[in-house]
Amino acid sequence: MSKKEPKLTLVGAGPGDPDLISVKGMKALQKADVVLYDALVHPDLLDYAPNAVHIPVGKRAGKESVSQDTILQLIRESAFEHGHVVRLKGGDPFVFARGFEELEYAKKHGIRTDVVVGISSIMLPGLYGIPLTCRGVNHSFTVVTATTAQGTLSDDVYIAAEHSPTTLFFMGLGKIDQIVKAYKKFNRSDLPVAIVSRGSLDTGGVIYGNISTIEGIIKQEKPNAPALLVIGECADLNKELEAVNCELAEEGLLV
Ligand code: SAH
Repeated sequence: MSKKEPKLTLVGAGPGDPDLISVKGMKALQKADVVLYDALVHPDLLDYAPNAVHIPVGKRAGKESVSQDTILQLIRESAFEHGHVVRLKGGDPFVFARGFEELEYAKKHGIRTDVVVGISSIMLPGLYGIPLTCRGVNHSFTVVTATTAQGTLSDDVYIAAEHSPTTLFFMGLGKIDQIVKAYKKFNRSDLPVAIVSRGSLDTGGVIYGNISTIEGIIKQEKPNAPALLVIGECADLNKELEAVNCELAEEGLLV
């Protein structure tokens, strides 16, 4: 039997709920010979590739179970040995996910490549009624990783804290003290904060506060990772709406 053509498809698995993968992503999985998947990927998605070899290469919160070099090597070896490799990554492969490095590596080794974009966790606030932009409230939003490759606080946190109307912080839960300090430095202590924890999953939810109160609320509520911080005027618009709904319900006006 002739060997299959080596191919790599980067597939965005979506932010958690397995139904949030795209139809195209699902079809790529059905055609996979090998699936290399991240820790944040929902295990049910592997059911779309029952005959493929499944290899976990997950990394969580800095604890590298498989190094990036090993992942690259696995991509090359699997593609030349088995054919079609699907690299299944949480959210979108190009948002804080090293997708470009994997694409570049495959191309340099003569492996054909394809990309299926995913729903990034950038979109999660909307799932809980938190708008990223709201007419008359903000004209932009910023997306920042709080944690750099070295594990330190990104300088961009300060740029966002000073200038951005609304910011989404990835990998920010463990750095909340430093983020709060940055916002306080620029006198933005009243700014609303929402924390989306395990967004789109059954165990997920949102907690609310503001720059001054959020550290205490986190200590009390203990939100789980992965978590996304939303800081800005938009963050508590939905909370206000929920309060109105509660009042209407109490008055028996909500059907
Ligand atoms: N490529 C991914 C991001 C990977 S970085 C994407 O596009 O979404 C991992 C970070 O993403 C986590 O530390 C967290 O900040 C965020 N994240 C991923 N899944 C999440 C979820 N279900 N709920 C909240 N935040 C999530």
